[in-house]
Amino acid sequence: KGLRPEINNKVSEWKDSIKNDSYGKPTTKNLQEQRESLPVFSMKKMLLETIKNNKFVVIVGETGSGKTTQITQYLAQEGFNKGNMIIGCTQPRRVAAVSVAKRVSEEVGCRLGQEVGYTIRFEDNTSDVTKIKYMTDGMLQREAMMDKMLSKYSVIMLDEAHERTIATDVLFVLLKTAAMKRDDLKIIVTSATLDSGKFSSYFENCPIVQIPGRTFPVEIFYTKEPELDYLQATLECVLSIHKNESRGDILVFLTGQEEIDTCCEVLYEKLIDLHQENELIILPIYSSLPSEMQSKIFEPTPVGKRKVIIATNIAETSITIDGIYYVIDPGFVKVNAYDPKLGMDSLMVTPISQAQAKQRAGRAGRTGPGKCFRLYTETGYNKEMLPNSIPEIQRQNLSHTILMLKAMGIQDLIGFEFMDPPPLKTMLSALEELYNLEALTEDGDLTELGHRMADFPMDPGLAKVLIKSIEFGCSEEMLSIVSMLSVQSIFYRPTGELRKKADEKRVRFNHPHGDHMTMLNVYEKWVRNGSSKEWCKDNFIHYRSLLRVRDVRIQLKKIMNKYGSEMRSCGQNSNLIRINLCCGFFKNTAKKDSETSCYKTLLENTTVYLHPSSSLFGKSSSEYVIYHTLLLTTKEYMHCVSVIEPTWLVEQAPRFFAKADTEQVNKRKRTVKIQPLYNRFDQQQSWRLSKR
Ligand code: ADP
Ligand code: MG
Repeated sequence: KGLRPEINNKVSEWKDSIKNDSYGKPTTKNLQEQRESLPVFSMKKMLLETIKNNKFVVIVGETGSGKTTQITQYLAQEGFNKGNMIIGCTQPRRVAAVSVAKRVSEEVGCRLGQEVGYTIRFEDNTSDVTKIKYMTDGMLQREAMMDKMLSKYSVIMLDEAHERTIATDVLFVLLKTAAMKRDDLKIIVTSATLDSGKFSSYFENCPIVQIPGRTFPVEIFYTKEPELDYLQATLECVLSIHKNESRGDILVFLTGQEEIDTCCEVLYEKLIDLHQENELIILPIYSSLPSEMQSKIFEPTPVGKRKVIIATNIAETSITIDGIYYVIDPGFVKVNAYDPKLGMDSLMVTPISQAQAKQRAGRAGRTGPGKCFRLYTETGYNKEMLPNSIPEIQRQNLSHTILMLKAMGIQDLIGFEFMDPPPLKTMLSALEELYNLEALTEDGDLTELGHRMADFPMDPGLAKVLIKSIEFGCSEEMLSIVSMLSVQSIFYRPTGELRKKADEKRVRFNHPHGDHMTMLNVYEKWVRNGSSKEWCKDNFIHYRSLLRVRDVRIQLKKIMNKYGSEMRSCGQNSNLIRINLCCGFFKNTAKKDSETSCYKTLLENTTVYLHPSSSLFGKSSSEYVIYHTLLLTTKEYMHCVSVIEPTWLVEQAPRFFAKADTEQVNKRKRTVKIQPLYNRFDQQQSWRLSKR
């Protein structure tokens, strides 16, 4: 009697489910029965009615309640896609878009790419007959750039809105504007968390539909002391659960592919030592994993066995895996963030927020009462974690977004109705960056180069490098390099005895000028060897990654061909290629510190380090370097690094660098001092952010 009503419900549902719990036995439900057992099914009529009567609807429901896979199908059955229009559904993550589309095509009973399809960057799996289309939010933003009214769509579902990616935040504005002008467009915003009031008030105080949850209690455990090595702690935790806890699958959250691959391998080794490798099935899941591997996580666990799924943040809310009873949460996530200290973007492993910790724990309570092992202290949770994650738009570099908005003809960036506007400073620095890249004029208008840059679904710096490669005469090579940069993890580094062999093989690809040329080497050698799988295996290279590089390359070439430019090859002319790189990445440059032999960025004089995986690591000849990204782990590491001449920077980025007045002459050679001019516009406030 004393229980609050919502708890009462949960407890009775839990008791019911214990009676009906089929865990461990093969599931006998067919697809249709599975669909009808989802919480969203009971809301079908009411949902459709609300959508029919309103332009905007917010839907809130626990992860796994059937929002993503079911609502699109309900809408299609009900004829919301009249007149060959499409029902679109966005996902913040590539993996989710693909996996969900696949699942829905099975439920509908069609081939993927027919009635149900998906579009992600560099991959379009839809056709003329596609009625339900899943896509990344980035791809829909790109479509909105071509067609502001999104006239192909009758309903658009902005799914996972709580993730607050930049693309979703921009789409809020664009879709609201389009729907206000179009009577035949419905917008649905779905969220797994309870901050739905904010979404509703943004969308004209639209109705909020709550899908009743079906969750079980999850017991939370903290560590007594902070963990020094969370990977080690994770492994111990997995083994201890496997040894001591009753049946049920385990879900582990790690930060990225390399960490996950390593963890899987080490775990497997340990299991072999314990002769348990047949009892515990280890399954990794991250975005660049081939899709057959991804589907494996959804297959029911064989009787008498246990699955351990080692995932990135993707498993937090985007995809639901049934049968999880245990969650291990080390408390970290990898995010791309603008680092004011460095004046640039950096990939960082950072603590998650309390809201994320709750979501992660919740994953253990979907099939029955579960346990969540937090590898941090309770004090850490209460005192060191933010209550909510900061929306991307407030912490990331906006140059790509602003370039797209400018290309849509949106001049009034201040008046642009963001739900949470980015800080003015972030917008100004994005404009400045675009100006330095020669994408904007001093008045903030798009240049011709800027227009062309906006055609590429990627970082403006990369886009510029590609466009300029035509003038430099090295477009064939640069296409390969840029495609290689768009794909994560090329090399495979096994543990144990094979590691040394893999490292030896890898060294053979190294180019004295650095990693960009090394990547080119890898790609060209692969192509010369018939793009074969065998060759990859021999050289410890991920075959799948290279296949994707090839796809990306084809897509990028198409965009470049739009302007009828002729592709040219420079052979192995490394100078041309590196000069070409300078015109887009001049900001990502560093100089060796003569005393400490680490590097200092030219921009802010921050200390950065060569990553040990770089082909320049341990070489002495590299005084000035250019790098692709920074990754902050224990130190700030430069990834993908090449040697450059400082004079190239002055030539290629005259708006950004100048020769210092004092030219120093040292004993052996003349060194030119380069200084950034980035303060030039600080005072002037010359950027027009609003309408003239
Ligand atoms: P929500 O969007 O509310 O989080 P989903 O529609 O993604 O929920 O998932 C509903 C259910 O469909 C899940 O609980 C799971 O059982 C099933 N499901 C979803 N995707 C897949 C898949 N790729 N393979 C197998 N089952 C899936
Ligand atoms: Mg979903």
